[in-house]
Amino acid sequence: MALIEVQHLKKYFDVPNGTLHAVDDVSFKIEKGTTMGVVGESGCGKSTLGTTLIHLQESTGGKILFEGRDVTHLDKKELRTYREDVQIIFQDPYSSLNPRYNIARTIMEPLEISGRFKSKEEIRREADRIMDLVGIEERLRGSYPHELDGGRRQRVGIGRALALNPKFIVCDEPVSALDVSIQAQVLNLLMDLQEQKQLTYMFVTHDLSVVRHISDNICVMYLGQLVETCSSKKLFEKP
Ligand code: ADP
Ligand code: ADP
Repeated sequence: MALIEVQHLKKYFDVPNGTLHAVDDVSFKIEKGTTMGVVGESGCGKSTLGTTLIHLQESTGGKILFEGRDVTHLDKKELRTYREDVQIIFQDPYSSLNPRYNIARTIMEPLEISGRFKSKEEIRREADRIMDLVGIEERLRGSYPHELDGGRRQRVGIGRALALNPKFIVCDEPVSALDVSIQAQVLNLLMDLQEQKQLTYMFVTHDLSVVRHISDNICVMYLGQLVETCSSKKLFEKP
């Protein structure tokens, strides 16, 4: 069974001169432990697809199945449960990091909110484990987001996303703002984590060389629609 399956998904926006079909009748499946790359020019609907999948916004039509369950429409309680299984990593970690929280506190926050831990001590230990896992050095754990370089800031974003052991992560241009040399490190981290934890990714990017590196399957979007879906191997094989 696919981890996530999308059938005829639609997300429309009311805009001044009509209705914008940002995601327009999109269908696909992502198998557990694999990465689906989503490519296409700016404005074709990649981010909207990602955020709609994980219920950061409501779909206009179609169906979303997660582990075979219909998660298209969720009440508040169901949404809370779903949010533990799905996460997102953004291009710019600034947008999701509280500037007034140091790194350790940033990682501890979702652990605290989850109610899964009995004591502050347990939370601290778990946060240390996560920071070890994503490679944030101990000396940086009391620093604030603006004091870190882009690569380390993205490690914090990844750590926060991983904190509650999600199954599915939308990676929305996670390395696009980084220097090329740092991009490879962050991509390798994402791939290592995938292998260790059987994570499933939807990896949104405009950069074909990045998607080639990380994806098992690739979808090409154009004006809200999926115009091509194939294995990464096939897309890049030489004729
Ligand atoms: P991409 O990630 O491929 O660059 P987006 O998903 O960000 O594309 O945007 C797809 C289209 O939907 C664009 O035309 C964008 O302007 C539009 N769009 C995205 N979010 C909204 C919104 N909240 N309201 C109106 N239009 C939006
Ligand atoms: P305030 O502290 O005045 O509530 P902020 O802008 O600092 O306003 O935070 C807004 C919300 O973002 C807070 O309610 C907080 O729970 C949440 N938040 C805090 N830290 C983070 C983080 N690292 N990533 C995402 N959200 C956060």
